[in-house]
Amino acid sequence: MNTAIITSDTSTDHLTGMGHPEKPDRVSSVIKVLKRQKNLIWNKTKKFDESFLNITHSSNYVSEVKKSFPKKGLNFLDGDTIISPGSKNATVDAVGSIICAIDGIENNNFKNAFCAVRPPGHHAEKEKAMGFCIYNNVAVGTNYLIKKYKYKKIAIIDFDVHHGNGTQDIFYENEKVLYISIHQYPFYPGTGSENERGKYSNILNIPLPAGTSSKEYFDAYEDIIKKLKEFKPEFLMFSAGFDAHKDDPLAQFKLSSKDFYEITRRTLLTTQKFTNGKVVSILEGGYDLNAMAESANEHVNALLEFN
Ligand SMILES: [Zn+2]
Repeated sequence: MNTAIITSDTSTDHLTGMGHPEKPDRVSSVIKVLKRQKNLIWNKTKKFDESFLNITHSSNYVSEVKKSFPKKGLNFLDGDTIISPGSKNATVDAVGSIICAIDGIENNNFKNAFCAVRPPGHHAEKEKAMGFCIYNNVAVGTNYLIKKYKYKKIAIIDFDVHHGNGTQDIFYENEKVLYISIHQYPFYPGTGSENERGKYSNILNIPLPAGTSSKEYFDAYEDIIKKLKEFKPEFLMFSAGFDAHKDDPLAQFKLSSKDFYEITRRTLLTTQKFTNGKVVSILEGGYDLNAMAESANEHVNALLEFN
């Protein structure tokens, strides 16, 4: 058993225009660093039954998205969510990567997996693209676990520096899903106060101010550990954004690359007895190419230790 990296050939075909921070190089730089690792299993995204998109998003939204891809040039889904002709396959393949990761774990091909794909997903709501996100990859994967594999308790840990308003929106009234987000606040997208708790206390938001240090972050992380012990998830998902890094140009947290190893290690140490080590992680944000590649590598180092 081992850790798998799921990639898609179409991730770099999703173009967002000159100067946009969510650029194709993000995925290439992560893959380049991970290629130096031994003991990783490399898998490509596969096709999947796209009707699974309609559990997470409305069928109206999915058909509107499918019609929106331009034949040439760029199109805007919101002020900062831009799509190109190549986005048509990239968006579906980003979802496909998480489906591929889940099937691989359920078929005992590997123990856990990291999906190095784009576009990211955690800001995409049931009926709305926003914040560089079109389909909510982690949410589609979570609903796939519930529908196809009958899981009843799934925890999503979102350590991207931005609040995952989309994932929260999708699971706000779903007692099978615990959504936990630790993020800069107040900040984009404006949601994520600690008063947003979900219908079944199944949402835990840990808002922290700009300038948060590693120590302050890990002190606050104890609340996440406590909540995970209470919930006892059968399967763990990570919305893995690396923009809480001190070098990230879009946010103001002060984490080091090594801290992403520690976040992952502490989480897996707590959950592995409940999940039997079943973990799928997917790339969200992270906009300094070196910092995010190093941090993703540290995250994968911890995944490798727990299989
Ligand atoms: Zn982010």
